[in-house]
Amino acid sequence: MASHWLEEAAEPVRRRVLRGRAEVEIVGGGVTGCAAALALARGGVRVRLHEARSVASGASGRNGGFALRGGAMPYDVACRQLGSGPARALWALSERGLDRLEELAGDALARVGSLRLAGDPGERTDLRAEYTALVADGFEVEWVDELAGPLGDRYHGAIRHPRDGALHPARWVRRLAALAVEAGAEVREHSPVDVLDDLEAPEVVIATDGYTRGLIPELDGAVRPTRGQMLVTEPLGARVFACPHYARRGFDYWQQTPDGRLVAGGRRDLDLAAEHTLEEATTPQIQGGIEDLVREMLGRLPGIDGRWAGIFGCTDDGLPLAGRAPWREGTWVACGYSGHGNVLGLACGELVAQAILGRPCPELDPFDPARL
Ligand SMILES: Cc1cc2nc3c(=O)[nH]c(=O)nc-3n(C[C@H](O)[C@H](O)[C@H](O)COP(=O)(O)OP(=O)(O)OC[C@H]3O[C@@H](n4cnc5c(N)ncnc54)[C@H](O)[C@@H]3O)c2cc1C
Repeated sequence: MASHWLEEAAEPVRRRVLRGRAEVEIVGGGVTGCAAALALARGGVRVRLHEARSVASGASGRNGGFALRGGAMPYDVACRQLGSGPARALWALSERGLDRLEELAGDALARVGSLRLAGDPGERTDLRAEYTALVADGFEVEWVDELAGPLGDRYHGAIRHPRDGALHPARWVRRLAALAVEAGAEVREHSPVDVLDDLEAPEVVIATDGYTRGLIPELDGAVRPTRGQMLVTEPLGARVFACPHYARRGFDYWQQTPDGRLVAGGRRDLDLAAEHTLEEATTPQIQGGIEDLVREMLGRLPGIDGRWAGIFGCTDDGLPLAGRAPWREGTWVACGYSGHGNVLGLACGELVAQAILGRPCPELDPFDPARL
């Protein structure tokens, strides 16, 4: 089924036909592709975007709506894995991405912060280490020991990221597409690209994240499709959660929408192997696990108004692939956010567009697709 977010009524994307040959063509109409289209159109480039279904129909319209700083790994782990300079640069890039999102998203984003909860004493130790590393490098962050309501009984402390946000992801990406069209981009929905050689533009951007399949074999090998499942409840009648919450190393996540519904997801760890799939379908096992999570939070299971699945792309090192593709001339990629693409997708889409426009983009260095 379509997600709760995609059910919102929306204006159709305005149809514009480019005059003359496209200079850049983009495959994929999620946050990444639309961000690249907007930046290229504003840079004066004739750009056409192809989306197989409709704008935001992939993970960009099916996700948890968490707009978070950082990447797939905790900050202290990133410092060890990448070195402290590159880790700090990545976190700073995502903070700028969040500010940019706020600038463009209008009422699709609320900067209410986020709460990352420790599910057991071991996770508390890990969160303390991340908190300490963030403080040492001057990032704004708070440690929370006193957790309110049902959280106090279940969790062992939390990190609050005060500048994170709650996103209505489909509204945001549809808005981004509208801005791209307004700036001069052609957005073609229901336009699957089967073979890159069929495209007319000399430069191509692949922005298909978890749905990447069949265009470049090496890219298929580098981005692993991974399924995430979610559900939405009926309105709860009271505000229980003021911001997006996530726990158990990201395997549980939920937020309450402005109209009072709980949107919850995760429990992928109940069957990790089966969730490495391109099949956009819910399963009783994972949905049952998410229902348990809701029961644990609320002490009851409210009516469930919808369930859905989406696919995101994971890389072996947890970093995006963004930049020039080494496997095919004139080809760029931006994908593989490992479940953290709401902010990084915007940032990488814009960075790849800047690189195509011939501007220096050192921020892309750690994401170089040639590394995999
Ligand atoms: C359940 C779930 C929860 C998540 N929660 C969060 C979260 O809270 N915060 C966060 O930051 N990230 C989250 N993510 C990850 C995030 O949604 C993605 O990283 C991000 O949306 C990727 O955006 P994208 O534009 O790169 O790809 P997508 O939005 O997936 O778009 C790719 C598009 O490419 C199209 N496409 C594919 N092949 C072709 C082709 N050959 N021709 C034309 N079009 C094609 C697809 O139809 C699709 O619309 C979650 C993902 C899921 C599934």
